[in-house]
Amino acid sequence: MIRTVKPSAQEQKILQQQRWENVRERLRAAYGEAIFNSWLAPLKLADIKNGQVMITVPTRFMREWILAHYIDNILRFWSNEDRSIHAVDIFVRPEAPMSHASREQIISSLPETAMPFAQPQNDTQHYSDAEGHLGASLDPRYTFDNFIVGKPNELAHAAARRVAESTSVVEGCNPLFLYGGVGLGKTHLMHAIAWNIRRTQPKRKVLYLSAEKFMYQFVRALRNKDTVSFKEQFRSVDVLMIDDVQFISGKDSTQEEFFHTFNALVDQNKQLVISGDRSPSDLDGIEERVRSRLGWGLVADIHTTSFELRLGILQSKIEKMQGIQVPEKVLEFLAHKITSNVRELEGALNRVVAHATLVGTSITLDSTQAVLYDLLRANDRRITIDDIQKKVAGHFNIKVADMHSARRSVAIARPRQIAMYLSKKLTSKSLPEIGRKFGGKDHTTVMHAVKRIDELSKKDPEFAEDVELLMRMLQS
Ligand code: ADP
Ligand code: MG
Repeated sequence: MIRTVKPSAQEQKILQQQRWENVRERLRAAYGEAIFNSWLAPLKLADIKNGQVMITVPTRFMREWILAHYIDNILRFWSNEDRSIHAVDIFVRPEAPMSHASREQIISSLPETAMPFAQPQNDTQHYSDAEGHLGASLDPRYTFDNFIVGKPNELAHAAARRVAESTSVVEGCNPLFLYGGVGLGKTHLMHAIAWNIRRTQPKRKVLYLSAEKFMYQFVRALRNKDTVSFKEQFRSVDVLMIDDVQFISGKDSTQEEFFHTFNALVDQNKQLVISGDRSPSDLDGIEERVRSRLGWGLVADIHTTSFELRLGILQSKIEKMQGIQVPEKVLEFLAHKITSNVRELEGALNRVVAHATLVGTSITLDSTQAVLYDLLRANDRRITIDDIQKKVAGHFNIKVADMHSARRSVAIARPRQIAMYLSKKLTSKSLPEIGRKFGGKDHTTVMHAVKRIDELSKKDPEFAEDVELLMRMLQS
């Protein structure tokens, strides 16, 4: 009989609250401050039971609106935090303080059917159901069909497909190590492999989980003195996929266990798929022997997206949102501007669509720019103060060194003020940071420069045009 011990109620509450904070942060990043504050900030975590998150909102209208627009991402972000989460439900709870009893009532009045995933909590099942508690659930949207292939991800995609279509371990691809920056599709590809094998070879046991969950399971097994069955369970799978392996850096005993599991599976000719945020050789805090094992098979990196890939992804998303019209120009604009990662790109598109639906207008380039103001600025972070100083100095035919000097003649001081002004507008640097970059000037000097340039632009159209031109050149 295998025993599992759950974390104490207290530990669980703290963990849940932390996860909720992470979900809120991701919602804020995806939708921006304005939408977040009006729609998402009022959400409150009430409870989590049987893989279902219960959230309260103050009004019925808000509930409807959130169900119509944000629920998918709320669920997605939650299940990213905690793979056991399968459903999110929203309940109305007026802001007025409520007695404990009535809160309980809301929760307990949930119909049983509102908990589609409520399962008998049978301890033995935890370890024996490879796709249940030991592993993590799969996002139904993360399939090969929904994955757009382009130059930056073609190797990773091709390798993932081979593993997904093969009926046994793929020679030269064990492990398949996928790596790349955040939001570039590693998890998507791993889920796609799992879906495919599950569909076409239901007899093969596929186990997908994050390295974090691997560690959690391992630590729990240690605590319960139950490592034998832990090992057996992991070693009985045909395909083991561990996501975000960088998580185990610095965690020595977990690494040790991972290393043994890894070797045991490779010895038995079982397929491994691992992802990380950098290549095996660059994984700091991971033992040399583990790193070298990780690099044994095929190491495929996912590069940052290209314009074509971003546009392709946007087009495919739009096709799936039936009845939503987005001008090609807007898609191109987004693909051009939101270059950080695919997650942010999707978030931007969702915001634009949500806004248009909310105010009932059509989507235009102007509305897109207005809705995404903060996000666009953040993506312009690539422009550095050094770039600005160079460009402005070149434009006015002065030396870059003059940007750092204290010379006060207008021919020098004015371009310097313009450069400060542009640094404020085009980068996310604070006033003191900008001051430092201009030869250690005070933040009030920068503030003064910004004000001065604004005034001059209002008074003198020609001057305004000059500043505008510099801004455009820097942004293109
Ligand atoms: P990672 O695990 O690398 O951080 P994810 O796999 O979670 O990234 O991807 C982030 C989001 O971007 C997901 O919603 C995913 O579906 C989407 N995405 C990433 N790459 C692609 C792609 N090539 N085609 C379609 N969607 C993609
Ligand atoms: Mg991921």
